[in-house]
Amino acid sequence: MNIASDSVTPSYDATKAENIETIRLSVRQLCEKFGEDYWLDMDRTNGYPTDFVKELTSSGYLGVLIPEEYGGAGLGVLEASAVMEEICRSGAHAGVCHAQMYVMGSVLRHGSDEQKKQYLPKIASGEIRMQSFGVTEPTTGTDTTSLKTTARKEGDKYIVNGQKVWISRIQHTDLMILLARTTNKDEVAKKTDGLSAFILDVKKAEGKGLTIRPIESMINHHSCELFFDDLEVPAENLLGQEGKGFKVILDGMNAERVLIAAECVGDGRYFIDKASKYATERVVFGKPIGTNQGVQFPIARAHTQIEAAALMVEKAANLFDAGLPCGAEANMSKMLASEASWAAGDVCMQTHGGFAFAKEYHIERKFRETRLYQIAPISTNLILSFVGEHVLGMPRSY
Ligand SMILES: Cc1cc2nc3c(=O)[nH]c(=O)nc-3n(C[C@H](O)[C@H](O)[C@H](O)COP(=O)(O)OP(=O)(O)OC[C@H]3O[C@@H](n4cnc5c(N)ncnc54)[C@H](O)[C@@H]3O)c2cc1C
Repeated sequence: MNIASDSVTPSYDATKAENIETIRLSVRQLCEKFGEDYWLDMDRTNGYPTDFVKELTSSGYLGVLIPEEYGGAGLGVLEASAVMEEICRSGAHAGVCHAQMYVMGSVLRHGSDEQKKQYLPKIASGEIRMQSFGVTEPTTGTDTTSLKTTARKEGDKYIVNGQKVWISRIQHTDLMILLARTTNKDEVAKKTDGLSAFILDVKKAEGKGLTIRPIESMINHHSCELFFDDLEVPAENLLGQEGKGFKVILDGMNAERVLIAAECVGDGRYFIDKASKYATERVVFGKPIGTNQGVQFPIARAHTQIEAAALMVEKAANLFDAGLPCGAEANMSKMLASEASWAAGDVCMQTHGGFAFAKEYHIERKFRETRLYQIAPISTNLILSFVGEHVLGMPRSY
């Protein structure tokens, strides 16, 4: 059992709550400058919202998790969650930039002093974008420890060969954290050993051993296939210890899960706002459709599910910020919030009837976007098997 998390419940801190409310208001104002039509246009053209991301960076919001000594705001995942939630609640798509917040966590927790000094201040200022994790591979998927990309040490460099898939924002990042095998799986005691993490300079690598191929997909997430063909990576770009890269990646993933859960809460609240407004305004058979309990109750139920998920997000964020174990809560918050946002999206579609399908109503775009989070960055089944095994002590299923 996870004793630490069982005994920690979020306690109310008035000053913190006031600060978070200020952050929320300010992010809302920033998002209002870019209306929903801006996001519709990005979706239609497969565009990248450079202006939005620039403004979010210069306002300091993408650097909230970077300590003040490196030029960030030095705040926690609780505050960062409020930022992500408000972006999504405004109708925007936080997937275009959320990773700039958390990928750097691997450098912060596992990088050498030189790496931290070299990268973190520039990430905080926006001079450098570090917003890609290169983990997933086409033939091994969720079975991360079986990944086949290798990094072979040769003098003062590593030679990387292999393939990755679904690597998001790679064409809009300067640096990526890459996970590759440095020792064969059958030569290590634990299958999580022998994997190493690297800071990859994408711009230098492209065309010199790295080929990037965009994937046409259901949402505008800028995901690509990557091919490594004798790519040379300087040995100084190793992040953390050789062979211990799985931990480097995993540590960043708890923050990622909580932040994505917060995005789902934002999506859910967006859908509930839209559905309840439309149900109040749309008149059919001489009265607002929301007077029918068949329309009203599903919206109220979806709202209740979102609010319950938001509590789990808050608990997971508080545990993370307190430096306590939070793997179970991070996973459970992502699962609950992604399911609740999908349910809210479904209700919002149903409430809008045929108009839900019109792009100018924006709902179908958000509906597509929020669906991702039951699959990435980790699928619901894998969360359930984590809870079954690590929280409830049942036998491993794979
Ligand atoms: C838009 C998008 C963006 C992404 N961005 C990134 C990124 O930036 N970086 C990155 O590294 N990856 C990224 N991914 C990859 C993502 O993390 C994976 O798609 C996800 O982890 C699932 O892996 P898979 O697609 O290989 O599915 P698979 O592993 O093939 O699984 C397929 C299905 O089978 C289920 N399943 C598999 N094994 C079991 C089991 N033992 N028990 C029960 N069920 C099981 C899964 O739950 C899933 O539903 C992205 C994916 C998408 C679609």
